[in-house]
Amino acid sequence: MRTNLMRTNSRRITALVGAAVLLMVTAVPVAAAEDEFVIVFPQQHESTRYLSDFGVAKPDGRTHRGVDIHSPKGSPVLAVADGVITKLTRSPRAGNYIVIAHADGWESWYLHLNNDRIRVDGVVTVSGPFAEGLDLGSYVAAGDVIGYVGDSGNAAGTDPHTHFELHNRGRAINPYRYLVAAEERWLLESRIEAGETPYR
Ligand SMILES: [Zn+2]
Repeated sequence: MRTNLMRTNSRRITALVGAAVLLMVTAVPVAAAEDEFVIVFPQQHESTRYLSDFGVAKPDGRTHRGVDIHSPKGSPVLAVADGVITKLTRSPRAGNYIVIAHADGWESWYLHLNNDRIRVDGVVTVSGPFAEGLDLGSYVAAGDVIGYVGDSGNAAGTDPHTHFELHNRGRAINPYRYLVAAEERWLLESRIEAGETPYR
């Protein structure tokens, strides 16, 4: 009796798993490896804006290898995925910058992090460049604050922004559509948190 029941259950489970796999296979289009990187929107500030400026020619003849994400100076910059800090340093061009290594050969780069003190309502606030306690080799989780928006390096004096790059196995990938998808998820989550029931 028990054996029969178990057999019935296991058959049912097999059928269920089969249906679930079939659903997954039919619902998710065949994706290139690049499509499988889901990121958190790195600058969750209401006034954040960015353009599809990857690949644009720069005045010095180089190509723009990232997307500039503009937010007020001192806004938090979040890790886009779980990973390990492999660079946390400064250079004349990049200013204060961080590189995080993620799974499957992915890397995210965050350039021009803040190097100024910020005065908010008469109070000078600590504003980076890097999140306190963060160091080379630190593990970070998706959504952790890693630094603060600024204009360091060759961005000095420009509208504060993070020059954001995504790399896969050493190759710079256009991060624009990953950012758009991440921003949509963030906005949807904020609406749900605010008590709305968004229908899409
Ligand atoms: Zn840039």
